[in-house]
Amino acid sequence: MAGCDPLPPAAGVVLDVFEHGESDLIAVIFTRERGRLAAIAKGAKKSRRRFVNKLEPFTSLELLLSPSRRSTLFRLDGAEIISSRPGLRFDHRRYAAASLVCELVIHWTREADPAPELFHLLGWTLDQMDNGDISWILPVFLVRLIDLTGHRPLLDACAVCGAAASGPMRMSHAHHGVVCRRCDPQGSGGTVLNAGEIRTIRELADAPPGRTGRIRIGAKSRRAITETMIRYSTWLLQKEPASWKAAAEIFPS
Ligand SMILES: [Zn+2]
Repeated sequence: MAGCDPLPPAAGVVLDVFEHGESDLIAVIFTRERGRLAAIAKGAKKSRRRFVNKLEPFTSLELLLSPSRRSTLFRLDGAEIISSRPGLRFDHRRYAAASLVCELVIHWTREADPAPELFHLLGWTLDQMDNGDISWILPVFLVRLIDLTGHRPLLDACAVCGAAASGPMRMSHAHHGVVCRRCDPQGSGGTVLNAGEIRTIRELADAPPGRTGRIRIGAKSRRAITETMIRYSTWLLQKEPASWKAAAEIFPS
């Protein structure tokens, strides 16, 4: 591959890794400096010594990358581990939840489009999932993800008639918010949220980064909020995350 000069070191989180040809690996990485990119690690499949334990999903790395003249694929010249988060690989529930997080970051980002707030949210989420309570972190991540992508749903009142959100309301994707029973008599298929769940989503979206830890979410509401946000994301992207089914099992039914 025709290369250019190496770039200054970049910080990134490995989102996915796949094999390329007989001897190479390609890593999909979300970097703070350059957004999402794909980088080829030459020879990494045959001799993993240079990249031992480094090209693993969920790992934060300091990266030495060289751009290519001919394609958007970078060449990975070196990597140092910042955080390997081993807890996410040895527990299938944590692995499933972290896989969902990384898949959604792939779906919600574009190549070469830096999103520093999302980069911070991703690192924070994976750190928390590494040893914290995943059933609490997943809804927190999803609410903040949707907010950062500019799609915060309307939750203060019915999105159609403006009636206050005092009782249960149904999420209406087409209206980008909750609607009351009068405005949606047929039940258009979105999840039903009670007033406390609607308030919790608002609080999570409004909380400054790092202050969400004070927000309590009951066991039943964790699943309701998570499902609501997954379905809304699926509707917005027209793509359901493949890892949702496995991740849903972190919630007791
Ligand atoms: Zn209404």
